[in-house]
Amino acid sequence: MTHSQELSPEALAELRERYRTERERRVRPDGTRQYLGADAEFGYYATDPYAGEVAEREPVRDRVDVAVVGGGFGGILAGARLRQQGVARVRVVEKGGDFGGTWYWNRYPGIHCDIESHVYLPMLDETGYVPRWKYAPGEEIRRHAVRIAEKFDLYADALFSSTVTALAWDDTAEAWIVTTDRGDEFRATYVITATGTLTELKLPGIPGIETFKGHTFHTSRWDYAYTGGSPDGGLTGLADKRVGVVGTGATGVQVVPKLAEDAGHLYVFQRTPSSVDVRANRRTTARDVGADHEGWARERRDNFLRIVSGETVEEDLVADRWTASAGLLEKLLPSFRRQGDRAAFEAAYEVADAARMNEIRARVDRIVTDPDTAEKLKPWYRYACKRPTFSDLYLQAFNRDNVTLVDTAATHGIERMTEHGVLVGDTEYRLDCLIFATGFSVGVSGVHSGKLPVRGPGGVQLQQEWAKRGPRTLHGFTSNGFPNLIQLGSVQSASSVNFTHVLDEHAVHAAALVAAAEAKCALIEPSREAEDAWIATLAEDAPDHEWFHAECTPGYYNGEGRGRPNGPTAYPHGAFAFHELLKQWREESMDEILRPRTPAQG
Ligand code: NDP
Repeated sequence: MTHSQELSPEALAELRERYRTERERRVRPDGTRQYLGADAEFGYYATDPYAGEVAEREPVRDRVDVAVVGGGFGGILAGARLRQQGVARVRVVEKGGDFGGTWYWNRYPGIHCDIESHVYLPMLDETGYVPRWKYAPGEEIRRHAVRIAEKFDLYADALFSSTVTALAWDDTAEAWIVTTDRGDEFRATYVITATGTLTELKLPGIPGIETFKGHTFHTSRWDYAYTGGSPDGGLTGLADKRVGVVGTGATGVQVVPKLAEDAGHLYVFQRTPSSVDVRANRRTTARDVGADHEGWARERRDNFLRIVSGETVEEDLVADRWTASAGLLEKLLPSFRRQGDRAAFEAAYEVADAARMNEIRARVDRIVTDPDTAEKLKPWYRYACKRPTFSDLYLQAFNRDNVTLVDTAATHGIERMTEHGVLVGDTEYRLDCLIFATGFSVGVSGVHSGKLPVRGPGGVQLQQEWAKRGPRTLHGFTSNGFPNLIQLGSVQSASSVNFTHVLDEHAVHAAALVAAAEAKCALIEPSREAEDAWIATLAEDAPDHEWFHAECTPGYYNGEGRGRPNGPTAYPHGAFAFHELLKQWREESMDEILRPRTPAQG
């Protein structure tokens, strides 16, 4: 097909029809209910394989200035920014055995940053660290998390292998009582929740999953004791094994090449193929990334965020496939909004999208030698329907004799598991080991999960209030009726594909709120009017892009094909504009949400 033929009205109509058919054969009536959490009889899937034996300790009963729930990049950055504001006692409480969050849990072979390291790793200016690869391996990122925690002395008061189980406001002390699953009950003047978004691993609810007698684990709890090797590979324990992997999202795409190198035979159970674009990872020097002056990392990070938020810049510093696709990614962002002739914009978007997806499908044909396998590996949906992936090794793995692609789209995924393996159609694939690269439940961590009940003054329960009227916040951070509670996340704020950047801006904001309250001996609590005004701002400019997600192939971006949740959930003008708004608000209006403490407590 020539380029012009690809983009003719007939070709576009054909493509639209193909996308619709492919979507329809994937939508399942059970939607998000098709998955299981790692609870009850499946609880062992969530056990921490990295912490070793967890030492007994005495429960903590003291008082700190700030409790931070979660020790991933959100919690670490909150801690670091609080230290910069001179806050003395900061206690991070973390379920894992160390800092790192997603990079603590995900240590699967092949793990890498899929955003450029020089914009993804936070606080490079402050730590003087310059990543060595354009896309850093996971261990380098985890070590960087530890580096920040050490530099800002966050280990001193931290509690690891500990999960916060409840937050309750103590009116007398004007502080939060924080309880954990280790028997702790301490007070904190402020609480910052940084519980992440993709933290609760999920498993497919395949009938018979519990009957499988082989070895099995989830990619976010890699069992190196069984596989041997390290994130760099060398999985010698798999040399004589028949290994299955379920899932071909961003994780599957990174892990499959390493498994292919070492497994006796690898079966890749695919339901929907990812779009797999060029990676071009390479060593970088400080000179390559302009790390020769103060503030270089901030400039680069801002430049990337502007581009992926749909803003115009003079120079593209990162210059990779993310920035090259920025126009198409706007559909992922609430910032998607165009003035003027909407129909013309939509038409131009469709043409650009089709051209990019045609390139991605053509790449499959160029790389994969078996035409039948190549056909199965082609994604039939719009670019922003699923998280785009990048690899120069994944498609190539299917040219190996020891790798078999098993397409399960016709049966809506694996139909059944048996004692010996996996059943797809009439074929039983006998396996020694089955690895789930099946991702995470979205929006079910922290206060949104119900696993962290929050009771404010008068015993009012935050989750019950939100169940009645929907989430109510000012800027996504603070809520009326829940003083000194600051939430980091993306509900009613703004997000981006470079999530650590967003977290850092949120951490700066949270620390500024705490510093202002301390300086004025005040409590942080927005009025109902301030919440109403913020929710009205979100609704007023809410973009009309629900149709886009509704037409997409199912996945976690669109509630497994059901469109997005109702109601304005994010600032519509994108993360860059949101950060500017926060900065201005801090300069001009922050005092409006401070109210005096009871004098005896001041
Ligand atoms: P995803 O949710 O993206 O992928 C899960 C995979 O499991 C999909 O391919 C899904 O198929 C498949 N699956 C689920 N149930 C079944 C079933 N019953 N039978 C067959 N297949 C099934 O999870 P990931 O862990 O891959 O990625 C989650 C997110 O984590 C990414 O989107 C990204 O944001 C982040 N990430 C970031 C990385 C980085 O480098 N920064 C690296 C890895 C992940 P289907 O598509 O049909 O539902």
